[in-house]
Amino acid sequence: MKLDTQPANNIAGWCFDNSYTRLPDYFYAPQNPVPVRAPHVVILNHALAGSLGLDLRTLSDAEAAALFSGNTVPETAHPIAQAYAGHQFGHFTMLGDGRAILLGEHLTPSGERFDIQFKGSGQTLFSRRGDGRAALAPMLREYIISEAMHALHIPTTRSLAVVTTGEQVVRETLLPGAILTRVSASHIRIGTFEYAVRQGGAEAVRILADYAIQRHYLDLSNTENPYLSLLHRVIERQAALVARWLQIGFIHGVMNTDNMSISGETIDYGPCAFMDAYDPHTVFSSIDQSGRYRYSNQPLMAQWNLARLAETLLPLIDPVQEKAVTLAEEAVHTFPQIYQNHWLSGMRKKLGLFTEEDGDAGLIAALLNWMYQNQTDYTNTFRALSAETLPGDAMFHNPEFIAWHAQWQARLERQSESSDSVLRLMQAHNPAIIPRNHRVEEALSAAAERGDYAPLQQLLAALADPYADVPEYYDYRTPPAPSERVYQTFCGT
Ligand code: AMP
Ligand code: MG
Repeated sequence: MKLDTQPANNIAGWCFDNSYTRLPDYFYAPQNPVPVRAPHVVILNHALAGSLGLDLRTLSDAEAAALFSGNTVPETAHPIAQAYAGHQFGHFTMLGDGRAILLGEHLTPSGERFDIQFKGSGQTLFSRRGDGRAALAPMLREYIISEAMHALHIPTTRSLAVVTTGEQVVRETLLPGAILTRVSASHIRIGTFEYAVRQGGAEAVRILADYAIQRHYLDLSNTENPYLSLLHRVIERQAALVARWLQIGFIHGVMNTDNMSISGETIDYGPCAFMDAYDPHTVFSSIDQSGRYRYSNQPLMAQWNLARLAETLLPLIDPVQEKAVTLAEEAVHTFPQIYQNHWLSGMRKKLGLFTEEDGDAGLIAALLNWMYQNQTDYTNTFRALSAETLPGDAMFHNPEFIAWHAQWQARLERQSESSDSVLRLMQAHNPAIIPRNHRVEEALSAAAERGDYAPLQQLLAALADPYADVPEYYDYRTPPAPSERVYQTFCGT
């Protein structure tokens, strides 16, 4: 299918096209956002708007509130709820956008295509028993973390706006309602393929795969076996993505197949969190009782999800089932090595290594093991190593660390790069600032409980340039005191 464009200008510079609505009916349900009582803008992302070719500064507060609540729908938008399925904690379920609306695809002046999606915009055909709404704090949480991920150079959906609705949502208590505007390369998930195969068999999967290739991986359309190539490409993107997560200490929390994007972006920020002290077993999500999606299990779970994608593609990969299974299995089995290559190459950068030696994996493992034994802060330890001189902290005088440090220094000597280049490489890959849970929670409660947006704005400013050394933001580097530690995060549905 070709992505014909029918550009039409609109308020604020919107240029909607709706290629998804040109897919067969069963892929979506037309659905306008359900109007809200009294929308009010709490945050607009002007930098992102600028990069999309939008000018939100021309809008009055009321216009912006109406636009980002869905109370007014741009003329050229054709809002829909997307159908999808997914394996949630290993169990298959039919899902779909139960509280989200795809407003349309915005075409930027340079011709890039982005989904513009409202989250929390009311009930849809797929809401099941849910109210279709979202509370303010979780929407701000997605805003903070997705924008932080972007600044950390990790592929991610973005956040353009958050508005409050003037309505309350009923959760364990009454909470202020809100709508997030999410921007993404697309919302095609592994779960969309799982939906397609069950809804319309191989033909539906073919239509969806062709669409995904057109939209994300045009270079694959002329390969000998585009569907096998698509599988390989998604494996590559997911392996690269999850390696980045581990390098930065990120735990997604709900790696269900409906939350894994075909484009390779991080999507769906629910109970996600960054770890403070290094511990591979870390799990924050209140609903992840068994630790299925714990920090160190994320590569395995990504591979598990990719096997679900592979299953949907079998009839397209080869008409002979056995051959298709062999090819798909071979593809899925490439994941661990591709992942390991990405991980190792990223970890080398974190340690200032420009060259490759066989002992590098061992050197990295020894550091991580020391960090685990001593419960050192993941982010701060790597950042400390990236400074010209180590800080005076007692932990760096520990004999085990001193021995490791000597090995590392000897390894650095065996490459020709200057110590300046080493430090530059390290500082570009070891952030000073991550969205630490206690600071995120502090900003969210100030905003959602007291209407005070100053801590949120400050935190967002600090997170905008996480690799820089800005004295004003040193405070954001401090790990939580025992009393501030966040042990659990919640989905916020
Ligand atoms: P998530 O955990 O955000 O990935 O959501 C999983 C599924 O539950 C998706 O199909 C959502 O659309 C749906 N869902 C989550 N919250 C609500 C809600 N408040 N109302 C209706 N559907 C919801
Ligand atoms: Mg989801």
